[in-house]
Amino acid sequence: MSLIEDLKQIVSGRVAENEPMAPYTTLGVGGPADIYIEVGSEDELAALMKYISENGLTWMIIGDGANLLISDKGIRGVVIKLIGEFSGITVQGRRIIAGSAARISKVADIAAKSNLSGLEGVGTVPGSVGGAIVMNAGTHRGYIDEVTEGVRVVTDTGEKLALSKEKCGFSYRNSRFQYDKSLILTYAVFKMKPGDGGAIAEHLESVREHRAQTQPQGKSAGCFFKNPTGLSAGKLIDGAGCKGMREGGAVVSETHSNFIMNAHNATASDLFNLAEKVKKLVKDIHGIDLEYEVRRIGEW
Ligand SMILES: Cc1cc2nc3c(=O)[nH]c(=O)nc-3n(C[C@H](O)[C@H](O)[C@H](O)COP(=O)(O)OP(=O)(O)OC[C@H]3O[C@@H](n4cnc5c(N)ncnc54)[C@H](O)[C@@H]3O)c2cc1C
Repeated sequence: MSLIEDLKQIVSGRVAENEPMAPYTTLGVGGPADIYIEVGSEDELAALMKYISENGLTWMIIGDGANLLISDKGIRGVVIKLIGEFSGITVQGRRIIAGSAARISKVADIAAKSNLSGLEGVGTVPGSVGGAIVMNAGTHRGYIDEVTEGVRVVTDTGEKLALSKEKCGFSYRNSRFQYDKSLILTYAVFKMKPGDGGAIAEHLESVREHRAQTQPQGKSAGCFFKNPTGLSAGKLIDGAGCKGMREGGAVVSETHSNFIMNAHNATASDLFNLAEKVKKLVKDIHGIDLEYEVRRIGEW
C-alpha cells in the first residue's frame, strides 16, 4: 500500500497531497504541504502518531493559522489539523474542558453563558485553544495560563498523557510547547471563577468592537514582534520610521506598526523580507533586538 492509502486507513478525516497552506492562515500565504491530514479523535491521533514515528516521517501541527508565516515553498512532510471531537466544549461546575480545535472566543462565550469568569482576556483573540496555549495568548486583561489547570496531549509516539499547568512552562507569549515539538495538545482544562455572565458577555462584546475599530483590517497575523520587557514593539517600529514601509505586496500598517499586512497579494518572502528590514532599522535606531512573535514555518 502507498503512504497515502496507509494514512487513509488510520484517519477518517481528509488526507490530501500537495495541499496549499495559504487558506489555512490569516496572512493568506504559504505554499503546499506534502501531506495534509485532518484528525477527528484522540484514538485516531494516537494511531497516526505511532505510524508517523515508526515510519520516520516529519510532521507538524497547525491550529487556526492566526500566528503563522508559512513559506512560499510550503511544508515538507505531514501537516496535521485537528477537527471533529477536538472542537468540543464541556462545562463541569467551575471547570471547562475544551478541545484544542475549539475557537478560544467560543469557549469564552460559553463561559459567559455559564456565569464563569477568567477567559475575558484571551476570549477576544483569534485562534484555537491549542494555538492559544502554545502561544500563551491573551491581552493585558489576562493570558490563558492564568486559568489553565492542565492539558491533555498525544506524544510523537502516540502516547496519551495529562500534564499539569506546572508542566506547561508558561511565560510571556511562550510555553513549553513552542520548543518541545514532541507534544500535540488535545484538550485543555480551565479552572474558572464565578462571575456575572451578562457583564462578561458585554465586556467581551465591547472589547471585540474596540479591536475591530482600532486594529488594522485585512490579512495579518496580529503583532509580528513581541513587546520587549517594558516597551512597545509598535512604538519602537514607529520611532524607527517604518510605518507604511512596503516590500512587494507587504506593508507595515499605518494603523498599528507592529502589524505587517498582506495588503496586495504578498508572498511569504515579501512579508519576511519586510519584517527583517523593520527588525534591522529598530536595531540601528534603538539598539533593540526585536523577537518574532509570528511563527515562521516551512521550507525557507
Ligand atoms: C488580527 C489578529 C490579532 C491578534 N491579537 C492577538 C492578541 O491580542 N494577543 C495574542 O496573544 N495573540 C494575538 N494574535 C495572534 C494569534 O491570535 C494567537 O497567537 C493565537 O493563539 C494563535 O492560535 P492559532 O490556533 O491560530 O495557532 P496557529 O497560528 O495555527 O499555531 C501557533 C503555534 O501553535 C502550534 N499549535 C497549534 N495547535 C497546536 C496543538 N493542538 N498542539 C500543539 N501545537 C499546536 C503551531 O504548530 C504553531 O507553532 C492575533 C492574531 C490576529 C490575526
